[in-house]
Amino acid sequence: MEKILVSSCFLGNRVRYDGEAKALMHPQLQTWKQQGRLIVLCPEVAGGLSVPRARAEQRDGGVIDEYGNDVSKQFSLGAQQALSLCQHYKIKFALLKEYSPSCGSTLIYDGTFSGKKVEGKGVTAALLHQHKIKVFSEESVEQLVALINKQEGNNQ
Ligand code: SF4
Repeated sequence: MEKILVSSCFLGNRVRYDGEAKALMHPQLQTWKQQGRLIVLCPEVAGGLSVPRARAEQRDGGVIDEYGNDVSKQFSLGAQQALSLCQHYKIKFALLKEYSPSCGSTLIYDGTFSGKKVEGKGVTAALLHQHKIKVFSEESVEQLVALINKQEGNNQ
C-alpha cells in the first residue's frame, strides 16, 4: 500500500514555530493514518530547530529567521531527512503544509516578514519535487485523494 509523507503539524502535532499545530480536518487523513500509510515528519524539527522557534522565511537562496540568523543548514538537513524517508519507503506522494518555508509547494512568504506571499516552494518541497515526488497541500488534497483512489482502483 502506497505510503505518503505528511507534514507533522497536519496531524495535530504542536511542532510549528509558534508551538501550535495546524491540524488538517480531512476524513481521508484519518483513514490513511489508521491504515498505517502516513510517514509523519516536521522537517524543521528534524533539521534541529526547536519548538517554539523564530519565524523563518526564504531570502536570497537561503533561509533566515526574523532576527537575521541564517538557518539554511537546518532547513537543508530537514529536507534531506524528508528525502531519505521517501527513498526508504519508496514514497511518490507528499502532503505538505502550504506557505511554509519548508513545506510550501506553491506559495511561500517573500522573505520580508510582512505577510506577503510569492510563488515558490519551501526547501523540503523543492528537494522532493527535484526527485520526482509529487507534493500536494491542504489546497490540493482532493487531487491527492483522487490520484491514490484511482491508482488503487486500477490495481484491484
Ligand atoms: S516545517 Fe512543515 S511540518 Fe513542520 S511545522 Fe512547518 S509546515 Fe508543519
